[in-house]
Amino acid sequence: MSEQRPYWNPQMEAWLTDKELLEIQNRKLQAMIKYTYLYSPLYKQILKDANVNPIDIRNVDDLKKVPLIDKSMLRKYRSETGDPFCGILCSPQEYIKLITVSTGTSGESNFHAWTSDDIKLKGEGWARGFWSIGVLPKMTTLLSGTAWHGIWPGINKAVKMLNLKSNWIAFDILSMKVQQWIKWISNLQPNFWFGIMDFTVLFFELMKQVGVEPKELNLPEDAIMSLTSAAVSEGTRKFMQEELNIKDIFEAYAMSDASFGFFECWQKEGCHIPEDLFYFEVTDPETGERLEAGERGEFTYTEFDRQATPLIRWMSDDMGHIHSEKCPCGRKHKLKCLGREDFMFHIQNKALFPYDVIDEIRSFPETRTAEFTIIKDVKIMEKFKIHVGIQNMRKAITEERRKELEIGIAEEIKKKTNIPAEILLCDIGELPLYLHKVIAVQDLTKEK
Ligand SMILES: [Zn+2]
Repeated sequence: MSEQRPYWNPQMEAWLTDKELLEIQNRKLQAMIKYTYLYSPLYKQILKDANVNPIDIRNVDDLKKVPLIDKSMLRKYRSETGDPFCGILCSPQEYIKLITVSTGTSGESNFHAWTSDDIKLKGEGWARGFWSIGVLPKMTTLLSGTAWHGIWPGINKAVKMLNLKSNWIAFDILSMKVQQWIKWISNLQPNFWFGIMDFTVLFFELMKQVGVEPKELNLPEDAIMSLTSAAVSEGTRKFMQEELNIKDIFEAYAMSDASFGFFECWQKEGCHIPEDLFYFEVTDPETGERLEAGERGEFTYTEFDRQATPLIRWMSDDMGHIHSEKCPCGRKHKLKCLGREDFMFHIQNKALFPYDVIDEIRSFPETRTAEFTIIKDVKIMEKFKIHVGIQNMRKAITEERRKELEIGIAEEIKKKTNIPAEILLCDIGELPLYLHKVIAVQDLTKEK
């Protein structure tokens, strides 16, 4: 396999015309709707209730007639019938090769099943993404994350397809042996590191607590890193790249329910969507209407080709926007995820996310790794109210400097968003937590 090739699958990634892509999507969509109507009792029920006949869905525009499907509909079906797959298993049981479980961040977890063709399909998708950021066969690869997470079937398959030398580390918060990991990683010398954003930031923090700088991991200078499960801001990217002294960091938007990852190319203006494998929509979280390119809303996707538990108009709970102009890399559609739906808040007439102000909050040396909580005290606010936490705040800075920082951060935010901000600097331990994570948006309107 030539290592100069720019695409893993050039035909599908760059050579298709818009018309050819649309033909593929319409053909796959028709087949998928018929398939799920035939074999999934839940999808059949949903279509029947909405008076939609599968033959009425001829193209991606017709897909709007299919109701949006969210996790609670699946859970309801499971509690009524006892079916662990919530009425969406379409393949015979004996074809199932693997079962994964969703994270359950928005309630009870759901199970997802995979046939061997499904795993191959997801592997192909991840292989495209890895290849697009410069991961080459035989690279030493560090995969870090939690073992049960739904993204691993696809990643593990891609690792085999790309012939990577992989080493896997479970970043298990409950049994952190940070010294051991530091040794492992510096001995392994990976030139590709795939990590989960929160765990990687936490690992940075723990390294510092035991007096080790990230640079001391001695990663090769040509190493690349890919981070997933949170939007990577420009500031975070630059900071981590410098701290680790590596070549580059790319964001990947991963969806555990679909065992899939969308990758940024070197242009870094969003993660490319393989539209021959998915139909991707952005929908209004209130009305369910499909939104135009560029508008902020909920990612809702339909999987093509998946056999076991295919997802149709699946509301991901993730918010962001998509774009369809041609990218200099030759690919087209791309998305930027801004955060989960419960991270969204409104100020004046704008829908905002913590991502919108993260670089402004972290733009001072003392707040470089600060955590923060946006306080949402009314449905539509007039200004930002943000509690910014730093380690040992009272020892680390003087009262005077604290005031300077509060004013400075507010000024940076005003410059970027034209919205005033009220900043309160505090100790990191004073921020509200959910399990080990600082709550990004504290919604006081719900608690009232
Ligand atoms: Zn691109």
